[in-house]
Amino acid sequence: MGDPRGFIEIKRKDAPYRSRDERLRDYKAVEHQLSYSDLNKQAARCMDCGTPFCHAYGCPISNLVPEFNDFAFRGNWQQALEILVSANNFPEFTGRVCPAPCEAACVSALNSDPVTIRQIELAIIEKGFESGLISSEPPSIRLDKKVAVIGSGPAGLTIADSLNRAGYRVTVFENANYPGGILTYGIPDFKLEKWVVERRIKLMAAQGITFETGVKIGDDISCHYLKKRFDAICLACGARKPRDLPVPGRDLNGIYFAMDYLSQQNKRNRDEYVGPSDEIIARDKKVVVIGGGDTGSDCLGTALRQGAIRVSQLEIVPKPPVKRSDNTPWPMWPVLLRQTHAHKEGGDLFWSIMTKEFLGEKGVVKKIRCAEVEWVVSDVNRPPVPIEKASTEFEIEADLVILAMGFLGPEESNLVAELSVELDGRGNVKADDHGMTNLDGIFVAGDMAMGQSLVVRAIADGRKTALGIKTYLR
Ligand SMILES: Cc1cc2nc3c(=O)[nH]c(=O)nc-3n(C[C@H](O)[C@H](O)[C@H](O)COP(=O)(O)OP(=O)(O)OC[C@H]3O[C@@H](n4cnc5c(N)ncnc54)[C@H](O)[C@@H]3O)c2cc1C
Repeated sequence: MGDPRGFIEIKRKDAPYRSRDERLRDYKAVEHQLSYSDLNKQAARCMDCGTPFCHAYGCPISNLVPEFNDFAFRGNWQQALEILVSANNFPEFTGRVCPAPCEAACVSALNSDPVTIRQIELAIIEKGFESGLISSEPPSIRLDKKVAVIGSGPAGLTIADSLNRAGYRVTVFENANYPGGILTYGIPDFKLEKWVVERRIKLMAAQGITFETGVKIGDDISCHYLKKRFDAICLACGARKPRDLPVPGRDLNGIYFAMDYLSQQNKRNRDEYVGPSDEIIARDKKVVVIGGGDTGSDCLGTALRQGAIRVSQLEIVPKPPVKRSDNTPWPMWPVLLRQTHAHKEGGDLFWSIMTKEFLGEKGVVKKIRCAEVEWVVSDVNRPPVPIEKASTEFEIEADLVILAMGFLGPEESNLVAELSVELDGRGNVKADDHGMTNLDGIFVAGDMAMGQSLVVRAIADGRKTALGIKTYLR
């Protein structure tokens, strides 16, 4: 703990955002980084608590937060970096997109503002890249064992990175044109600029990992073939099966899933080809996003940048409280009304609204018939259910509808069918404590095992499974 009075005397300072008008004109990152001198001061706010809840409770990868805060306060970025990367393979991703459960669990958050842990993490890793402290050298020892990783999202990349560092020969197979999973095709560029992903992929390739892109395992190559060539296989294919809304009119044109919409804009930004007949674009349209979560907010920000006339977001759950409620006491992740940067850019968010029907003309969606709902507890042993409120029905104009209502688990695929791998009750691939499926030598990690989650959880699960693979191969 560098400064024993830091948490009393220094106020939290957040990173500034680009102005609304400026950022709506491009897809560049909306958030700036705090200066290194600001972050020295911010790190002084850390109290080095006897029980660091940020590390022990909040952070899924158990980042050593008080320790790196202390070195950041002292300006010893090299030591801070060593500590940071000992727990987190990719702090440059989490430092930009993590919702920071560590900050929600920071002891300072009990009666004041938490330490700016996410920004400090970002500064440490960026300082590391700037100062050439991050080595692109392959490991000094190579083992005679080969591992195939299927899928290159944060979970697959974590496994590849962890095993490569330990000397294993790793090949990552990826269906998309470029690695990164949802980091590359999903999360909008205005939250995570793609040079950040590309910098990491180039580094990993230089360190000896082979990337085979444009290859769908189960279709282009069978998993049985991989089994003959590799000593272990890890499935890290994500959980991208979208929740649908089977109400009348769902088959009209103009209704799309969020991932199709968002990944298309990522492709445009990467100068990848998007055929005109497949194009989903909000320009000059009245857009309705159904789903009020983070993916919905990503769609909102994208539609505003594309030049939508108007964007409305409909959410069926009630408006959350502005302050932490008794249901989610500290250090739990609080259910709160969060205004994302996209919400500050424009659009209207409506709570407790159900969608009853899509109405169209000549096969194309034109309106949505909605109603207000009330959440009613009819049985104390069951969660509340939405009941339509009488006489609240209304229509909203919509010539582009984006469904962003969450994900149900891994997509049905030839890969899963070919392996007949065991699934859990929620449709995710079942794993033991070491990440191994019911099949010998076949592991699973990330969303494919947990369901759609967070980048930091995908990294945490990847680290656990990498350890399981190492133990298995030994
Ligand atoms: C729109 C959106 C925004 C999000 N924003 C955030 C955020 O801001 N912060 C945050 O923490 N989390 C965010 N998340 C959640 C986070 O991105 C995911 O939890 C995380 O990416 C999961 O990582 P993964 O590696 O398990 O899977 P994914 O990232 O989904 O990667 C799986 C990869 O496997 C590949 N694949 C699938 N099948 C095959 C096959 N048969 N052969 C070869 N390759 C295959 C896919 O092409 C894909 O590249 C967001 C999610 C979405 C959908």
